[in-house]
Amino acid sequence: MPYKAYRDINKTLEIKAHDTTIVDVGKIFYCHTKDCKAEMSLVSGGDPERAHFRRRSSGPKHASVFCTADGIFDPTKYNESKFNFNDISDKLINPISSSRRKVGKGTRALTGGGGEKSISTIFQIYCMCRKYDIYNNYLSDNILADERNFDRYRNGIVGKKIVQCTPYHKFQDEFAYKMNYPSYPNGKHIKLNFSTEKLFWDYYNKFKGEKKYKELMIVLGNWTLSQSNEEYISECTINSNRQIHFLKK
Ligand SMILES: [Zn+2]
Repeated sequence: MPYKAYRDINKTLEIKAHDTTIVDVGKIFYCHTKDCKAEMSLVSGGDPERAHFRRRSSGPKHASVFCTADGIFDPTKYNESKFNFNDISDKLINPISSSRRKVGKGTRALTGGGGEKSISTIFQIYCMCRKYDIYNNYLSDNILADERNFDRYRNGIVGKKIVQCTPYHKFQDEFAYKMNYPSYPNGKHIKLNFSTEKLFWDYYNKFKGEKKYKELMIVLGNWTLSQSNEEYISECTINSNRQIHFLKK
């Protein structure tokens, strides 16, 4: 559900969903991916917070797995000023050890739009990052490593980040899985270490199948540089299924 498309079939006139008006509803747009033939229609046109594009089901299919990588982030559901990426990632990465903090009345934010609750899942963070460059003073570029900023992270991913990737294969004699970042066959490899055998086999079974290389997913980890001599660039440990999310088309 992308936030960008083209007005013309030759793809010269780019249009962002939040810049559309009610007049654009019902028009045909074209997928933002180069060489993709998919036609798009505008959903919630004229509503800058909710507007996005959707493929016209009567037209050609998308050419790339990235065409539909965007979610539909609705900022009115969340309180932007409560977003704290460090706290959220600690909770998702270390669900047992991180204590649940009580939020007193005094800490309630008085500024910032949106709903009462904060973003709390990896998928919500991902969707926010695909839509915004900056959110509550956080740069999306520092949170999400995907196909758009591959040049920045191609030599290593460090710290708490969400990484877009697809499954590749198991590491021999390890409860670890090699992934393609940001996609197959282009890019680099990263390593997911699983903290328990059970968690590893759960994902091993989910990663199975012919299309697994194209199964786009996101992984939240506290990444460190690899010592593997180019076999993979970075690695992290998966403690919880809340760190992994499959992006469905
Ligand atoms: Zn497309």
